[in-house]
Amino acid sequence: MVRLNRWLPQPWSLLALVVAFAAAAGLGLGLSRAVGRVALIWPANGVAVALLLAAPVRELPARLLALFATDVAVNLAWGEDPWPAAMAIAGTNAGEIAAMVGLLHARLQRRPDPTRPGALGFLIGGAAVVAAFAALVAADSLFFLEDRPFLPVLAAWFGADALGLIIVTPIMLALDRAGIRALAAGPRPMATVLLILLPAVVALAACAGENDGLAFLVFPPLMLAAWRLPAAGTALALILIAVITVGTAAAGTGSFVVEAAHDPAAFAWISPPQFAQLYLACIAASGFAATAGRQQINRLRRAVAARAARLRDSEIRTRVLAESSSDIILRIGADGLPRYISPAVTEMLGWTVAEVLGSDWRALIHPDDQREVRRMLGQAAREAASVGFRYRRRHKNGSYVWVETRTRARKDPTTGAVIEYIANIRDVTAQKAAEEALAEAHARLAQLATTDGLTNLPNRRSFDSALDSEWHRARRELIPVSLLMIDVDCFKKFNDHFGHLAGDDCLRAVADAIRGAVHRAWDTVARFGGEEFAVLLPATDAAGALHIAEAMRRAVRGRAMPHPGSPNGIVTVSIGVATEDTDHYATAEALIAAADAALYAAKSAGRDRVMVAPASPPLVQIAAPPVADAPQLIATRA
Ligand code: GH3
Ligand code: MG
Ligand code: MG
Repeated sequence: MVRLNRWLPQPWSLLALVVAFAAAAGLGLGLSRAVGRVALIWPANGVAVALLLAAPVRELPARLLALFATDVAVNLAWGEDPWPAAMAIAGTNAGEIAAMVGLLHARLQRRPDPTRPGALGFLIGGAAVVAAFAALVAADSLFFLEDRPFLPVLAAWFGADALGLIIVTPIMLALDRAGIRALAAGPRPMATVLLILLPAVVALAACAGENDGLAFLVFPPLMLAAWRLPAAGTALALILIAVITVGTAAAGTGSFVVEAAHDPAAFAWISPPQFAQLYLACIAASGFAATAGRQQINRLRRAVAARAARLRDSEIRTRVLAESSSDIILRIGADGLPRYISPAVTEMLGWTVAEVLGSDWRALIHPDDQREVRRMLGQAAREAASVGFRYRRRHKNGSYVWVETRTRARKDPTTGAVIEYIANIRDVTAQKAAEEALAEAHARLAQLATTDGLTNLPNRRSFDSALDSEWHRARRELIPVSLLMIDVDCFKKFNDHFGHLAGDDCLRAVADAIRGAVHRAWDTVARFGGEEFAVLLPATDAAGALHIAEAMRRAVRGRAMPHPGSPNGIVTVSIGVATEDTDHYATAEALIAAADAALYAAKSAGRDRVMVAPASPPLVQIAAPPVADAPQLIATRA
């Protein structure tokens, strides 16, 4: 029981269907009787098709059965047909309705809009084919059952049913709830009513009295209504015209009847009712075609407007993004002319947007950077990704601002040609200053790390690395390298006598003196530690080193700094010299040790002298001469 319910329509909707069909069938029969058993129009099937299209598919069999029963009853009651003919006619109608509904279901959506492109043509074509089949079946069965003439029944059935489907189905579809609402929502109700009534008035006037051949006058007002009103308006206008045309024809008056009376020869091949059918079919098709065209234009307009609104919306969003950014967003055409620049330019560079857009880009970029900017734009044009670079932009106040830009070329997808460049420009002045300060701090730190604070000479660390690299170079290139170790004589006593601050001053003066004795840029004079200094002399043999050492010793002496604790009465230094010349020392440390040993020997020998380590050249001692005398070179063995 529950199962069966699914296939049964609601009683009230079934009742509505049956009543509508019966009324339309009664009307059709009444008209056919009035025009001598030739139905002018058979609206019942069109009504049924439109109503069934709106019903659920599973309820179709039950509804078709109800329609069949109603049709049989109508035929028996009003059609003056015997049982078999009434059944045959009702069966043919049910088949016609089912075929039409099936056809429309298969091709269009469940509730087809007759103004959709293609829908109207399909409806008319489908109606003609279905009506032709039904007419064949009906003419055949009536010929056998009632001996009615085959061809006239075929023609009459086809004309009436095709017309009924063509006119009534789209009218019913257009007159659904949404269609009526659209019509009622029109801006000027009076104009709507007039537009619907005008074709009917013209139709009435055209077939009033003895007028003939004026039926064509209906076309202009109908086209106007079809063009100006939604589909439901066209449907209403068509209903009125159909009622007038069919009504006057049924009453034996009207344009075509009068025309046939005036010119029987012209109507030899077609009866006035058939002519009226053809006429109604033509104006219905034309009216709906015009409405369909107009609706399609409206749909396209709405689609275009919606698209434009979306575009506007996205443009507004993009603009808001661009304009709220503190970066400058810049679009430059392939011709080099700026097309858009965001207002951030005023805050960053002082220019107004109009000033930038009106000026040559070269005027806004530092002359030294223009080449680079052009090169980077070329790179952006070749690459898909954005390129980043830094350059200076001119501020309105004449100064230059360091900016960093990321620039991307937008290209034509088909030709690959650059359409424009899109650049994001950021002020990096602060960043640049911070980077410079950092670099300066780095350099300063490096200097601090390698310099002795007291004497400003390279410190021990610096000396070690210089020795390391020079040692290896000497080994590689087989060139000599010499090392001097210098120690201030009796310096403890100097401190004891004058205090540490004076001692510091003395160390600075000694550093000054020995540094003044070297002239080659690659020589290194370093503070080795305490009151000891080390001198690295690349590419210098023992004789050269001895010469420099002696010059240093003299230079310190030459300062004549009083030193009561020293036997000489002035500040002096002792110097140990070692030279790596003939692959004598295995390591740099051995070289240091040798120089140290020579220094120790110089101290032992009485200070204020130079001693050369006993490597390649014979050990040489430069004895301390009397303060006033010139020094003598005394060669000794260690
Ligand atoms: P010698 O002739 O044997 O070298 O005797 P010296 O007194 O110079 O030798 P010693 O190594 O005993 O003393 C070195 C002194 O140098 C000890 C220390 O007070 C002093 N000295 C080391 N570094 C500094 C410094 O930076 N400033 C000062 N004012 N004195 C220093
Ligand atoms: Mg010392
Ligand atoms: Mg000393």
